[in-house]
Amino acid sequence: MLTAACRKTTGPGRTMYVRLWSVAQRQSFSSGSAEKPLPGNLMLRHLTSKIKATGPISVAEYMREVLTNPVMGYYVQNDMLGPDGDFITSPEISQIFGELLGIWCLSEWIGAGKPSRFQLVEFGPGRGSLANDILRVFSQLRGALGGAAVSVHLVEVSPKLSQVQAQCLTGDQSQVSASEDEPVYRQGTSTTGLPISWYRNLDDVPRGFSIYLAHEFFDALPIHKFQGTEKGWREVMVDIDPDEPGKLRLVIVPAPTLASTQLIQADEKRRHVEVCPEGGVIVQRLANRIAEDGGAALIADYGHDGTKTDTFRGFKGHKLHDVLASPGSADLTADVDYSYLRRMAGATVACMGPVSQKDFLKNMGIDTRLQVLLRNCADPSTRAQLIQGYDMLTNPLKMGERFQFFTMLNHSRLTRPEQSKGGKKMAPVPKKGPAPLPVAGFSELGLS
Ligand code: SAH
Repeated sequence: MLTAACRKTTGPGRTMYVRLWSVAQRQSFSSGSAEKPLPGNLMLRHLTSKIKATGPISVAEYMREVLTNPVMGYYVQNDMLGPDGDFITSPEISQIFGELLGIWCLSEWIGAGKPSRFQLVEFGPGRGSLANDILRVFSQLRGALGGAAVSVHLVEVSPKLSQVQAQCLTGDQSQVSASEDEPVYRQGTSTTGLPISWYRNLDDVPRGFSIYLAHEFFDALPIHKFQGTEKGWREVMVDIDPDEPGKLRLVIVPAPTLASTQLIQADEKRRHVEVCPEGGVIVQRLANRIAEDGGAALIADYGHDGTKTDTFRGFKGHKLHDVLASPGSADLTADVDYSYLRRMAGATVACMGPVSQKDFLKNMGIDTRLQVLLRNCADPSTRAQLIQGYDMLTNPLKMGERFQFFTMLNHSRLTRPEQSKGGKKMAPVPKKGPAPLPVAGFSELGLS
């Protein structure tokens, strides 16, 4: 995560966009970001009156209110990405990130037998930079797409960010729906000529062969927190601090809750556990869609494979921030538990990963792509920025190891290349046939 600005420079034969960047992953770093307190801290008042009325609230409810409350939620109110924001993400660091993900989408579409309809679905697109870089790749490789009907579908809860995305992707040529209740709340055409629609929920996205992308989306979904005690698992909840009524504190509630009885695995070895049931539900829905309609999902986030314990934290101005202090003014996040997502996906789809961002990007050919860009770029400061961006993304001490990639695929994808079935369920796969295309990123890119 870091601060970013966009600059246009020219490469041989085409326009090349290079993002200028300076500092900062979410876990550390400083910036001069301005305080953005809510007037009289409305969010704190909202939360304390809720707790006074019903008792302590789960961390999941706290996160949901703070981040996505429709009136004063952090994501609803803010453009939090960038130099004046609270954190910065890989697509904002370097154009190469989005370009390689664009190649990944193409590779999976080819591996699935080049269906005639191709939906690109992105969850939580932030400023739209990732989709923008991917659509540029699609435009440049239009020939490879062979006339497939490509459409773009963005699942975004924040009206404010959807406006930023529309500006980035359509040049502000988008229309907002007349009624707030419409499942498609904004529509437009990308600067590269593809239809784009905005939704609040996955359920509203049309069915059909789709490549789903979620970059730094699952970490923003609400988690429940549990503590192992002598009496068994107990939920950690948010309460009013009795010593300072204007402050909140975390408490371990004495009696089991529905969540503490339902969400912990019988063989759980950790003493402190975070579970994100909303993430589990989304993964199950994705798995069903991929199994029935064809396609793949790529989830990229900082995460672990069922090993970490207390990862709930806040970020403000590129610095760690107390999760309970001035709620609504800072980002809240928790590492993604990929072992939980894999369990929720079940046998419906084939899962691969998590693999580290460094390995994924190297398998996707980031070294070659960097060399090509450097060869075509004479400006010393742009060259330095390209190299810095590469280092930030791949260095194990920066984002290279902490960020992980995980994919869910239609089972037929790993057996043999399919001819297009127009988005229908794949036929049983014969034993003979050409070997399937390797799944790029999880092994070396196999396209020539
Ligand atoms: N993917 C972007 C932005 C990450 S920030 C990037 O990597 O740069 C998280 C994004 O998810 C924001 O766009 C936020 O508004 C969106 N978001 C958070 N919770 C959401 C929810 N429940 N449904 C849909 N979008 C959500």
